[in-house]
Amino acid sequence: MEEKIRELLDGILHPETQRGIVSSGLVEKIAADGAKISVTLNFPKARDPFAPKIKRQIEALLRERFPETDNVAVLIKEAAPRRPEPAEKQTTTGDIARVVAIASGKGGVGKSTVTANLAVALRDRGFRVGILDADIYGPSQPRMFGLEGYLPEAVSEEGRDIILPAEAEGIKIMSIGFFIKPDDALLWRGAMAVNALRQMIHQTRWGALDFLLADLPPGTGDIHLSIISELKIATAAIVSTPQQVAVADVRRGVEMFRNPQVNIPIAGIIENMAWFTPEELPENRYYLFGRGGARRYAAEHGVDFLGEIPIIQSIMEGADNGTPSAAIDPRVAPYYRDIADRIVEKALR
Ligand code: ADP
Repeated sequence: MEEKIRELLDGILHPETQRGIVSSGLVEKIAADGAKISVTLNFPKARDPFAPKIKRQIEALLRERFPETDNVAVLIKEAAPRRPEPAEKQTTTGDIARVVAIASGKGGVGKSTVTANLAVALRDRGFRVGILDADIYGPSQPRMFGLEGYLPEAVSEEGRDIILPAEAEGIKIMSIGFFIKPDDALLWRGAMAVNALRQMIHQTRWGALDFLLADLPPGTGDIHLSIISELKIATAAIVSTPQQVAVADVRRGVEMFRNPQVNIPIAGIIENMAWFTPEELPENRYYLFGRGGARRYAAEHGVDFLGEIPIIQSIMEGADNGTPSAAIDPRVAPYYRDIADRIVEKALR
């Protein structure tokens, strides 16, 4: 009997598609036991305007063909109304799994050096890594990776202009520094920088990345808000020296990420230049700028402490010579590796 009903029902056409309601998959279930026939319809479209009409047609047809059955029930299931998808933005960031912002309250605390070395540490863990150097006031990733003078090539792909990033140490690198001369930096503040950053974010051919580290400009300001609105940031790490940690700039950084409209989880604070150990006295640690400041600050402000990095000559030399120290100095690598592991844990949470 059910087979017979199925055949009958397929003679009813959906007015829009002009296809039988069975062959087009609208009939989900048919159950018949002589006294009762029930038909369940499933419309993929929410509130299909033809659903009531089809229901009435089925009821009339079944009553006519099976007059001995006094109970004919037609049930309509509908897909939940879907919210319209926002118009998709053309962007090249779709294949990036996690964006980690590296921020600082002030310039000169080692934010860019930390970014470059963390990228190396993540690469050494087997992740595919990119760096977006958005520090319009002092883009230093080109120097950190020996890429000064790199001119990003633009290619046309499917009618769009795509910019090719640089690559060094197996890390994809796009820097605002590729587009400006050091002396221009001031001019680039404001609208021009925002436009250039937007292009770097959305038109770079990053390829598939596990992590993109965004080296943010120091401090807080409009440029940060603009980057934050363009990039989906998974978590932010704040770099500070022991000296700078108590200063209001760090607090402002924390507040910026915590602002309800920004609402980016803070992975924690990284203390850079935590102490100095002279070559000839490897056991000695000189806490030139005070001890434990960042750890204390973190505890007091409800943020995590991600780790500390001492002052090491090879870190400075690496930054100046174009190869991050973590890639070549086995004494340095573990500091960044531990911090990178903690960030990964937070970013993937
Ligand atoms: P920022 O990006 O915060 O402005 P940089 O990363 O450019 O700071 O670092 C400022 C200077 O400090 C650079 O010369 C860099 O080589 C040096 N530096 C940063 N961290 C260390 C460190 N842990 N040990 C030695 N030198 C460092």
